[in-house]
Amino acid sequence: MNSATVNGIGMTSPRTRDRLIQRLADRGIDDYKVLEVMRQTPRHLFVDEALAHRAYEDTALPIGFSQTLSQPYIVARMTQLLLAGGPLKKVLEVGTGSGYQTAVLAQLVEHVYSVERIKPLQLRAKKRLAGLKLYNALCKHSDGGLGWEREGPFDGILSAAAPKKVPAELLQQLASGGRLVMPVGDAGQQELVLVTREGSSFDCQVIEGVNFVPFLSGTVS
Ligand code: SAH
Repeated sequence: MNSATVNGIGMTSPRTRDRLIQRLADRGIDDYKVLEVMRQTPRHLFVDEALAHRAYEDTALPIGFSQTLSQPYIVARMTQLLLAGGPLKKVLEVGTGSGYQTAVLAQLVEHVYSVERIKPLQLRAKKRLAGLKLYNALCKHSDGGLGWEREGPFDGILSAAAPKKVPAELLQQLASGGRLVMPVGDAGQQELVLVTREGSSFDCQVIEGVNFVPFLSGTVS
């Protein structure tokens, strides 16, 4: 990928990105590292070319298969919550989607393990991450409800799809001292929750009302 592609021009230019970062800061995102990584990450490469001019608006964008690339504010909020307990070594992400959140995480933690149930999305995301040389993000086509047992336990778990309640497998794969951030609940009444684990005790904190795609079981090839 050449630098013009990565840096962008016109509606994907540095000035356009700066405006988005200012908006995130105005909305209360105050983790400097998260803001800087989001300023540097070329979100326009994670959507269809026809939508690239909207990539630095604070809005969710369609990525096909009835799925969406999350709104930048939500990506920033979830990332900031996940990192608030200190540096993270291993993070499990459920719902790779476009790979944008994966790319943001890969620049802030040691290793990202990301799973996606829709094969064509998973393959596209994998290519984009390789194009950006983010080799510390491993991607897998599988049902995230099962976690990624072989690589666990994880000190961070993040999901961009909302189950009715946090899957037991994910709680099991959360390390003691670890943090899990995900939306839960039915469409129209989802809440973003932060679960922290200490030994066998789990504390669940409700952060805010949100609107995510549903967490579905099984895979699509
Ligand atoms: N962070 C992504 C969000 C994509 S939307 C981005 O910014 O692009 C959420 C994604 O979760 C969708 O791609 C959907 O297919 C996926 N998903 C839903 N349930 C899942 C499950 N059980 N396992 C893996 N992926 C799942």
